[in-house]
Amino acid sequence: MSKMRFFALQELANRQPVDVPYPSGNLSDYYGDHVFNRKKMQEYLPQAAYNAVIEAIENGTPINRDMADMIANGMKSWAKTLGVTHYTHWFQPLTDGTAEKHDNFIELDKNGDVIEHFSGKLLVQQEPDASSFPSGGIRNTFEARGYTAWDVSSPAFVVDKTLCIPTIFISYTGEALDYKTPLLKALAAVDKAATAVCKMFDKNVKRVGANLGWEQEYFLVDIALYNARPDLILTGRTLMGHSSAKDQQLDDHYFGSIPPRVTAFMKELELECYRLGIPVKTRHNEVAPNQFELAPIFEDVNLANDHNQLLMDLMKRIANKHNFTILLHEKPFKGVNGSGKHNNWSLCTDTGINLFAPAKTPEGNMLFLTFIVNVLMMVYKNQDLLRASIMSAGNCHRLGANEAPPAILSIFLGKHLSHMLDDIVERLNDAELSSEEKRQLQLGIGRIPSIIQDSTDRNRTSPFAFTGNRFEFRAAGSSANCASPMIAINAGMAHQLREFKAQVDELKKNGLDQEHAIYKVLRELIIASKNIRFEGDGYSNEWKKEAEKRGLTNTSSVPEAIMKLNDPQSREVLIGEKIFNENELKSRIEVDLEKYTKKVQIESRVLGDLAINHIVPTAVIYENRLLQNLHFMKEVFDEDEYKELCANRKDLIREIQHRILIIKKEVNDMTEARKVANHLDNDIDKAFKYSENVSPYLESIRDHIDHLELEIDDEIWPLPKYRELLFTK
Ligand code: ADP
Ligand code: MG
Repeated sequence: MSKMRFFALQELANRQPVDVPYPSGNLSDYYGDHVFNRKKMQEYLPQAAYNAVIEAIENGTPINRDMADMIANGMKSWAKTLGVTHYTHWFQPLTDGTAEKHDNFIELDKNGDVIEHFSGKLLVQQEPDASSFPSGGIRNTFEARGYTAWDVSSPAFVVDKTLCIPTIFISYTGEALDYKTPLLKALAAVDKAATAVCKMFDKNVKRVGANLGWEQEYFLVDIALYNARPDLILTGRTLMGHSSAKDQQLDDHYFGSIPPRVTAFMKELELECYRLGIPVKTRHNEVAPNQFELAPIFEDVNLANDHNQLLMDLMKRIANKHNFTILLHEKPFKGVNGSGKHNNWSLCTDTGINLFAPAKTPEGNMLFLTFIVNVLMMVYKNQDLLRASIMSAGNCHRLGANEAPPAILSIFLGKHLSHMLDDIVERLNDAELSSEEKRQLQLGIGRIPSIIQDSTDRNRTSPFAFTGNRFEFRAAGSSANCASPMIAINAGMAHQLREFKAQVDELKKNGLDQEHAIYKVLRELIIASKNIRFEGDGYSNEWKKEAEKRGLTNTSSVPEAIMKLNDPQSREVLIGEKIFNENELKSRIEVDLEKYTKKVQIESRVLGDLAINHIVPTAVIYENRLLQNLHFMKEVFDEDEYKELCANRKDLIREIQHRILIIKKEVNDMTEARKVANHLDNDIDKAFKYSENVSPYLESIRDHIDHLELEIDDEIWPLPKYRELLFTK
């Protein structure tokens, strides 16, 4: 056994839970105590400054310089009570994760004496001089100025001894270099479009906000074992490893009791979350061994996403304290479940109506129905955009691989609601509604709440499921920034709602009353989007065939999926709704493709290295042992006996030798394929070459290595095996 593997297992045997005591008192005593929330603003800001912040949050009113100075000063005073020494603009560049550059409050005054100072200017805008973030060509390094600007709608918070100020990140020319900027635009777009539709029903509605409740799945691996797996360290997933004799087939991990070391980790994580005002609520084991999930109570999309970004960061740091490493990769282990990040999404009015929840009155249910039907059409029309928003080098192993759901978009409504829609189509026809027909229809619509309450059907295989008062987009990957799917969904919805309203207005202009016009357009939408509705098993092969027949799109190729961002429909949404300009969209596509290419490139290099420097030498050692054994047997046994005894041995030696040769050849071929791809100038061609000509080797080389793992003496196998990685005590 390699020293690494041996010591790792020894360390593992001695592990104990690292318990962290909860603070005494109630949760509400310390909840949010690291957040500069409204309560603290009231305490630390002069009334005028407080009013300015609230005005900015609620109505987008700009904050003037004097006010900004006052706010910065108040923020600093509060932060000092927590022993804070530094501050940072906290932003979400187009890499995985967040970025921060810490500055001390220290400044020198006129006399050269040290003072601690934090001005409004520093609060509101900064130039992080961060020229190495991916920008897809928007920012040339010679004018590498990117600016961060305060996002007032997300409160500042303290991590360790640093005051973090959530910001957007834009280029010198004002183009978005991050996830937050386009997200805020998409949320504004859906607010505007949805409010206009709501006003047709209720004049009192002034705002529609989007909510997000994410469910974060992850794996934990003991840190010593992790450190003995170069593939995990460098790529976040195992590039080799034969499946364990036992993994998830008994379903004994799902919702099972949580191991004490993991409970201790979760406890500390939750405590930190509460201090930071992240309302985490649910924790449980997931399907695969060592896989877990954490979900909060839903919040406004922008805040929820900041909280998810912050959480992923906290998870990494706290896991280390508990001698774990957290794996946020979508498919760290072949053959067992991957990790997703379900995005629970809803739209809610400022008058307190959840637009995806059935109401008590027929009119209220018309509003509900209007939004549900528009979601159907939005997903139907934007299948490619939605897929592009969640496709990545990691997530493609979850979507499209044999063991995972396919990358086909469909909506599960539950059979009652689905029948209801079909019923509406049948009852309504182009002719004028008679009063009796209208009564019947209203009766039907009036029954919706009880229908939904009664029907408890859930479908866990649907990528976009209606779950009673929200939609759950399940295709998003565990490592992703939720902004990406949330931009696609909210911008898509904004676009769809605007189109809907225009169609209704057109009919009204032609003399139809509003109610009838709405019915008519809804009917058309229900018919047009019918193919996106699917109630069956979304993981089955029959569905793949059926979906193809229905003309739904599907692809497991990452570059192909990403390029759909440039299709007419996606452009209509992204550029039409002013989420991106031409330049920004082009750069997003470039960044996404480049990210994919680089990840496959790194995986390919790491696998080549492991195959040639770890696996092949181990196989040769074992092969030599077998050869020696054969050789000495000859001295002991006579010829007939020897022949009989050695037949199997020889087969095994031949097989090992054969695999060694193929591995070497394929590593060579893979390197050559990489070289060809690397020579291409064009990012698009490069990504396609990596997808078509490099990534298949990752699978085939792995397959030979996994067979060798079964054949070679466990004692000399260099890397921790799946059964060790996945069954950490
Ligand atoms: P499940 O595993 O059954 O899908 P969870 O309880 O793990 O359910 O997660 C559900 C998530 O959906 C939580 O984050 C919850 O806050 C969120 N959620 C509930 N209602 C809404 C809503 N109206 N809008 C958005 N998210 C919601
Ligand atoms: Mg869920």
